[in-house]
Amino acid sequence: MAAVPRLGADEGGHGRGVVSRVQMKYRPFIIVIVLLALAVLALQYTVDVRVADQAGIRMALPTRLGDWRGSELRFCHNEACLKEFPREELKDAGKCPACGTELFTMTLIEYKSLPTDTEFLKGKYTNAAGESVFVSIVLSGRERESIHRPERCLVGQGNSIDKSYVLEAPLAGQKPLGVMTLETSRPVDLRSGKQTLSGYYAYWFVGQGRETPSHGTRMFWLAWDRIVHSVAHRWAYIAIAGRREAGSDKFQQQVKDFAGLLQPEIKLAAPARPATPGGS
Ligand SMILES: [Zn+2]
Repeated sequence: MAAVPRLGADEGGHGRGVVSRVQMKYRPFIIVIVLLALAVLALQYTVDVRVADQAGIRMALPTRLGDWRGSELRFCHNEACLKEFPREELKDAGKCPACGTELFTMTLIEYKSLPTDTEFLKGKYTNAAGESVFVSIVLSGRERESIHRPERCLVGQGNSIDKSYVLEAPLAGQKPLGVMTLETSRPVDLRSGKQTLSGYYAYWFVGQGRETPSHGTRMFWLAWDRIVHSVAHRWAYIAIAGRREAGSDKFQQQVKDFAGLLQPEIKLAAPARPATPGGS
């Protein structure tokens, strides 16, 4: 008999759980309905959305960043070859020295998974201590669908994200750059047995005169500029990645230093704010 009241209590618990689950279940739909209503209103008051072709960044990587030396990378898309080369070591940047086919600025997998007007640039830098940092820049095209939540891709590639937070990279004469920093780890099979590879992945987004470490904030500005200014800007996503010692936060200095060196090299001066339709 002792089991009966307990069962009742459990059911009560489940009942409450169902109510809150129902609320949780419908919350996303309510948000979607509110957003749709706003979008309909916005469409009535705005003319066609103009696609702005200027980007907020320069699609080129320097060969020196402070004490770091590096190069853009080029990738062969011939499935029998698939080699990659530092741009600086190529006599002809357009042709694979191994198989003679065309070279691209992104890997074949990236090429296949992104809209064709997406611009992509990758680079690798090393310093005197033998440390490496990988850089990638994705610049969205007309479809504006090129930039996804980076966390999803990292997990899809077998990484787990142990921690995430925003680091502030100091910039000369400007307020610091916020950089979303993810501490990642990935199991790898080595000859010596299973090991965990610890790394970091740090990123920020750049729009016209706007920078943010937050995917949500970027989505907000994208929608805001569409609705208020009738313009769809090309946003860029800048990511740096490297190794990290498990349990040590020494890599954070590398993230701050490297991001602080890279940002002024690629950022273009912000033009005037887009004029509202019919405004001056
Ligand atoms: Zn090749």
